[in-house]
Amino acid sequence: MTADCCAANPDKPRKLRCPANGIEYAEVPARTVSHHIRQAWQWADRGRRYFYCDDPGCDIVYFSDDGVVIPTVQLRSVIGVKTPSAHAPLCYCFGISKADALNESGIRDFVVEQTRRGLCSCETSNPSGKCCLKDFPRSGNKT
Ligand SMILES: [Zn+2]
Repeated sequence: MTADCCAANPDKPRKLRCPANGIEYAEVPARTVSHHIRQAWQWADRGRRYFYCDDPGCDIVYFSDDGVVIPTVQLRSVIGVKTPSAHAPLCYCFGISKADALNESGIRDFVVEQTRRGLCSCETSNPSGKCCLKDFPRSGNKT
């Protein structure tokens, strides 16, 4: 059985508009937030629902349904989609950077295989709470 986080469409997550850019984003489990926030021991999710903004131009990463916002500086993980560097992480489960994915054509297949075997941990490792495969460059043999 593959990990739920890589399933095509679990049950429809709720969506909410990011207070900074006004675009709707899907809900992430508090479990995901707790694995990326700084000083997690001081963070009290208080049963709020959190949502993940992946806009590269927006500084907010998580926001709640009652006005709490968590910007990039409050996270201990580098948010790949919001970081221009080629060395920013792409696949958090297996430590693959954007540059790795572009330069080594076999990497995407490796990740596909790992997810097929249920060896990924996207829900906690990836700040999006989701599988990284959708973020992979289309082809690994770009010059
Ligand atoms: Zn945003």
